[in-house]
Amino acid sequence: METLLGESEPHPANIINPTGSSAHVLICEHASNRIPKKLGTLGLAEADLKRHIAWDIGAEETARILSRLLDAPLILQRYSRLVYDCNRPPEAESAMPALSEVFEIPGNTSLTPSDRLARTRGIARPFHHAVEAFLDERAVAGRQTILTSIHSFTPVYKGKPRDLDVGFLFDRDSWLANFLVKAFPADKARLNEPYGPKDGVMHLMNLHAAPRGLRHVMIEIRNNLIEDHTGQNAWANYLATPLAQAANKLATAGLTR
Ligand SMILES: [Zn+2]
Repeated sequence: METLLGESEPHPANIINPTGSSAHVLICEHASNRIPKKLGTLGLAEADLKRHIAWDIGAEETARILSRLLDAPLILQRYSRLVYDCNRPPEAESAMPALSEVFEIPGNTSLTPSDRLARTRGIARPFHHAVEAFLDERAVAGRQTILTSIHSFTPVYKGKPRDLDVGFLFDRDSWLANFLVKAFPADKARLNEPYGPKDGVMHLMNLHAAPRGLRHVMIEIRNNLIEDHTGQNAWANYLATPLAQAANKLATAGLTR
């Protein structure tokens, strides 16, 4: 089988500040709108590749600032979720969506099992392997780990406006989500909104965090709040304080469940 990525194209996982001192390991699997050369633009216009369907707008920059504030490692995924959504298992239609929100993705409409396997092998497997290897390294070194993923959501979805500023999502571990939501106004921050476990969005946490007994949370920020540096900096700061408090609290109580 031909490989998806060319020799000059980077590995899907980009680990920033790997030796950071924080217990938080930040992860941003929708950081990029990059498409492997072999797939062209997936049949989309350049403008569509800048929309939220291709990536989480503002999430990478916010996560990078948060990584500096907390001195936390940050794992970025380097390719668009339209190529492979690393928060979905390979059997899910939404891992390589033919339709995202209301947008048809021409390059994904007639994928063969062999095409799907090439993307799984080219993007998902090496990315998840890198996450596993990184968590293994910390485990054997006796480092405590909290897995915290940073995402953004669109203010208007299928024509419906969303009033939420930030959502804290969980499935198998509610502790951290419950701790963080209390640091924000109740009318602007909620649990398991705008998505929740029933939407299949806890795949990465259920794959990497829950089996290891790691505390974890998925954070979703409305993307028009983090579309420029001022907003990204503000939100990284809003989140850094309760995240650091949570790590301190768990360091004394014991991090694993
Ligand atoms: Zn996301």
